[in-house]
Amino acid sequence: MPPSKGDPARRLLDDCFLHDRDRLHHQEAVNLLRERILPLTGSQTLPLDRACGHILAEDIAAQRLVPPADNSAVDGYAFAHADYLSTGGNLPVSARLAAGQIRSEPLIGATAARIFTGALMPPGADTVAMQEDCETGADGGVRIPAGLKPGANRRKAGEDVKPGDIIAAAGSRLDARAIAALASMGLAEVRVRTPLRIALLSGGDELVEPGKSAGTGQIYDTNRHMLKALLAGLPVEIDDLGILPDRPEVIEKTLASAARSHDAILSSGGTSAGEEDHIIATLDRLGKRHLWQLAIKPGRPMSFGQIGDAVFFGLPGNPVACLVCFLLYIRPALIRLAGADWAEPRRYLLPAAFSTAKKPDRREFWRGMVVAGPQGRPALDKFERDGSGLITGLRRADGLIEVPEAVTSVKPGDLLRFIPWSEFGL
Ligand code: AMP
Ligand code: MG
Repeated sequence: MPPSKGDPARRLLDDCFLHDRDRLHHQEAVNLLRERILPLTGSQTLPLDRACGHILAEDIAAQRLVPPADNSAVDGYAFAHADYLSTGGNLPVSARLAAGQIRSEPLIGATAARIFTGALMPPGADTVAMQEDCETGADGGVRIPAGLKPGANRRKAGEDVKPGDIIAAAGSRLDARAIAALASMGLAEVRVRTPLRIALLSGGDELVEPGKSAGTGQIYDTNRHMLKALLAGLPVEIDDLGILPDRPEVIEKTLASAARSHDAILSSGGTSAGEEDHIIATLDRLGKRHLWQLAIKPGRPMSFGQIGDAVFFGLPGNPVACLVCFLLYIRPALIRLAGADWAEPRRYLLPAAFSTAKKPDRREFWRGMVVAGPQGRPALDKFERDGSGLITGLRRADGLIEVPEAVTSVKPGDLLRFIPWSEFGL
């Protein structure tokens, strides 16, 4: 049976004897997080230039046509297609129209207007020839090449957006493309969901802050800085609570106070079953544990629970496991908590260019590189070492290879599921 909340027998289990078959599977963990995490509902207004990464609180419907009027897509000559056909393409030039000019006079019959990109089409004209394709004569006329279709190089009013079109939907995360749509509508500010207040901390007596000198047996706190970088671009405000010692009373005090003033607490390290791993015990004392120990590699000791009204995420201490768990579980959970839908990464099938064996009953996420396979087609290679502390593999990889529980071996040509880093916003 997978562990369940408040199951006292679980706490007595020695982790080393717990088989992967008994741990929660990846999909069960995802389902549980999707089910238990409910979006917070606060909202606030932000200037457009500060809204990227935030989650829209309401649908935005277009109020106007984009473009607002017919205009030229190129620098060239505008004319009526019927005149172009009847004159064989030789037209006198009767006007000059630049972008931003107020509406022009109607085109005088059987002439062309010199026109520039973005200028309004003069009434009577429906087609534009590119200047590169035209010849101007000494008489001031223009010779337009044959073969232009009616409406060529003309942008129609409303061809991009019409009033009432939903250009950005409530619950979507604003990116540069959505900001473009909002700006094109003339919006200077938008209503977004209130950012999550996140408390971030690391736990471990061996950890030292970068910039300080590290003594024997000490390592630099990598996770807190990696997590801050991973959180950049998400709708969050981070309170950095620094490094906590492996002292239960300090951990308890810090978590209890963080839970009172934050929507979520993110901590790494100390979530295994060792005697020096105090996070789980503290979580059990202060709040509720919803999830602990996954049948995945890397990232087994991941915990999820609640302290008061704050969601608690306990990430593994090894940096690679910490990153994998953050990307697969915490990132989509935070996005959901902040008011958007669960953001499940897309998987792309690519053939393996290697062979290896794998243990059953657990899902593995290998660091994968896209390489040239047979006939130069893309294939996947695997970073040769699996150690969940090896950051070198992260730097080398192009993404994660997801290998389901049932797989026990991979040979060249087998189709594997690949998740590029870009699916996680990296
Ligand atoms: P733990 O989960 O505390 O047992 O830690 C597992 C491994 O991850 C140990 O080797 C720790 O030293 C290491 N570790 C824990 N926290 C961090 C961190 N913030 N940065 C880098 N390594 C860490
Ligand atoms: Mg530790």
